[in-house]
Amino acid sequence: MPHTSDHRTVTLASGARVAVPVRLLEADPEYADLGIESPRFVGLSDEGYLVVQCDGLQYGLTTCCDASAKGGEHGIVCRACYREIDPLLGGPMDVADAYTPEVTA
Ligand SMILES: [Zn+2]
Repeated sequence: MPHTSDHRTVTLASGARVAVPVRLLEADPEYADLGIESPRFVGLSDEGYLVVQCDGLQYGLTTCCDASAKGGEHGIVCRACYREIDPLLGGPMDVADAYTPEVTA
């Protein structure tokens, strides 16, 4: 999996460890400045996709770019590289293994 941004390894409810882009773990100030909620990592789906929550929606990220899906002329594609991806990523996705942010004192 190509890593285009910094990742941090986090531990999920099951004890599984997964590398997640840092931008999905911390509120992105650029989003805050624009007054919009930034996507936050909430866990892994049954299929092993990273699932994020944003604006009340929960969706999986592409394995190629950690990006969201986009409906295009040729079906469901990765928003970042326009490669064809699993159509499942085009819809809402449930979390099978949840991530709870650690509370730092
Ligand atoms: Zn991609």
